[in-house]
This record gives sequence, C-alpha cells and structure tokens, in this order.
Amino acid sequence: MSQSPSLAFEVTERPDRLAEAERNVILANPGFGQKFSDHMALAVWRKGEGWGDARITAYGPLQLEPSAAVLHYAQEIFEGMKAYKHADGSVWTFRPEANAARFARSAHRLALPAMEEEDFLESLRALVKTDLDWVPDSTTGEASLYLRPFMFASEAFLGVRPAAEVTYCLIASPAGSYFSGGLKPVSLWISEHYSRAGIGGTGAAKCGGNYAASLAAQIEAGEHGCDQSVFLDSVEQKYIEELGGMNVFLVYKDGRIVTPELTGSILEGVTRSSILELAKELDLTPEERRISLEEWRTGAESGEITEAFACGTAAVVTPVGRLVWTDGEVRTGPEGEGGEVATKIRESLLDIQTGRAEDTRGWLT
Ligand code: PMP
Repeated sequence: MSQSPSLAFEVTERPDRLAEAERNVILANPGFGQKFSDHMALAVWRKGEGWGDARITAYGPLQLEPSAAVLHYAQEIFEGMKAYKHADGSVWTFRPEANAARFARSAHRLALPAMEEEDFLESLRALVKTDLDWVPDSTTGEASLYLRPFMFASEAFLGVRPAAEVTYCLIASPAGSYFSGGLKPVSLWISEHYSRAGIGGTGAAKCGGNYAASLAAQIEAGEHGCDQSVFLDSVEQKYIEELGGMNVFLVYKDGRIVTPELTGSILEGVTRSSILELAKELDLTPEERRISLEEWRTGAESGEITEAFACGTAAVVTPVGRLVWTDGEVRTGPEGEGGEVATKIRESLLDIQTGRAEDTRGWLT
C-alpha cells in the first residue's frame, strides 16, 4: 500500500525557457546525456532533521564547498530510468518503484539516508510534469526523457564518516534511439586485469565509484578494438558478471536464456528482471546461475549458444557480436545485426514502454 509523499517538490524558480523551436531541434536529435531539461528537483537531508528543502528549480550549477565529502570519499549513489510519451500524449515511466527500491538498497550500502519510495516517485512526477515539453514523442521509435536521480554527501567536512548533510537531486535529459540504423552488435573485451567489484564490496549498489573503477577496463577494451568490457568474478576470475553499465544474457539453441545469478557483486538491473519475467510468454526458458567464461567460449564455438546480449535502461537490449580476449576471439551472434531472440525481447520491452502494447503487468506509472 503506497503512502502519500512527505516531501512537496514545488516549483520555486522558473528559468528563461528555451524557445519552442530550439527545443524541438534538440528533441529531434537528442543524442544521450548531453542536453538537459529546464528544471531540476532538489532536497536536502540533515542529520537529526531528516529531509527538507524540497523544490523544483532551474537546471544549473550546484554550489559545493571544495571540502564537500563526496569530492573526497565518493559517498554518492544514482539511478537511471526513462519517461516515454505515448500516442495519446500521456507520459509514463517504466517500473520506477523498482528503481526506488534499488536506490534505497544503494543508500543503505553507502551509508546515505533512506528516501521514502513515495518521495522518490513524487520528485519524478513533479519534474516530469514541470518539464513535460521535454519528453520526446516515443510513439514511432524509442526516444524518451532519461531521468537521473542522485544523492551525495554535500557536507563540508574532511573526516571519514557518513556525512551529516546530503543532497538529493534529479535531472532530466532527452534521449534518442540508440540504434537508428537497426540493431548493431557490440564487441566485448574480457577484462582479466581489472575487476569491477568484489565480495562484500559495492558491486550491487549503483554508486559512482563502481563506474570509476570500470573506466580503465573500458580503455583497455578500446585498445583491443572492442566497444565494452565484460567483467569476471574477482575471486576466481572465471565466471561472467556483467558489463560496466549493463547485465548480460546468453541464448541457447534449446530456448534457454541464461544470465549470471546475483552474487552480491552484480547490479540487479530492472531490465534484467523484466526480461526474466517476460521470457515465458516469448517461449523462452529463463535461468539464473553461474556462467563460466569457458562455457561461453565453447558454447559459442559449438553453436550451442546462438546469441548473447547485454541489457539495461539506456540501450534496452544490445546484441553482442564478438567476444575477445588476450589471445583469441569467438563470434557469439549473427554478424551485422541482432539475433532473433535479442530482437524479439527488445521489441517486446519497447512495445510496453512506449505504449504500443498493452501493459498487462502494471509496469507503467
Ligand atoms: N549493470 C550496471 C553496472 C549498470 O550500471 C546498469 C544500468 N543501470 C545495469 C546493469 C542495468 O540496470 P537497469 O536495467 O536497471 O538499467
């Protein structure tokens, strides 16, 4: 039973708005993460007082002291989801309660204050309502308004302890189709030098430090002609975990789709969970278990594994074409385009998100 929000995100400042024509130019070709809507949501938590100062204000620079704890100790978490504009003009987000729950789990791990689910959802509602004109039309493609909530230690203090002042902020950025010319498979580099997360670490939380830790591997991937890195478990360096910003699935000839089980060092993707739930109705058998790199290599070679794909909010489903390591590589899906299963899953998800198919599970808010 959901409660009513305790924070009211009211508009306190209206910026000079971009002219409609200018905004429409951006919305026609927004790219990803480069342009931002007119407003942002803010709230501040203080130890002993709780959350307050909730408001919608003009998007713009934040004032931080150089001693703000986040700049030193990375006490920070974030989320990512999308709002879609349907044919009737209504605007919907996909499973935001799941993001709210993950935000709460991340907050707990990073010793940040909890934000009530209803307050988190209220901030999304308030910002999207204020910047409704910034939601691209999602009816023909997959354009959306990407929503980025985050929370960080804003207290000016250099001692190492959970901050006594924390800022919550939500910004929005129009996002276009990832694959305008059809689904283009990516190549993956197996990172043998770098781990993303370890047992007892922060891998299951969505915190900035995990992404900082993935960048050197990303450079290594580029040096080997690959698009992204795939990380292995940090203990045996034997089992597949995930990509820097996406979960991964292997597709077997017999209709199984297998994804690494959650071990505590993998981020539980909302897209991953949704695909596991959708599988049955697409005549696929979902499985969560450990997958060794060896299983992927030999399965791809023998044809037992017919496709592989990565999944996440930003690109929904991304087919994997090649898997590359220090002294070899293997093709792990059709050349030039996505495999049948990856394409089918991608379409099913997008149809629900963009309102082209009925939302029978109540996934849209
Ligand atoms: N793993 C990592 C490390 C990620 O950053 C993301 C993106 N949030 C995902 C997986 C996919 O999660 P979701 O489907 O919720 O976007």
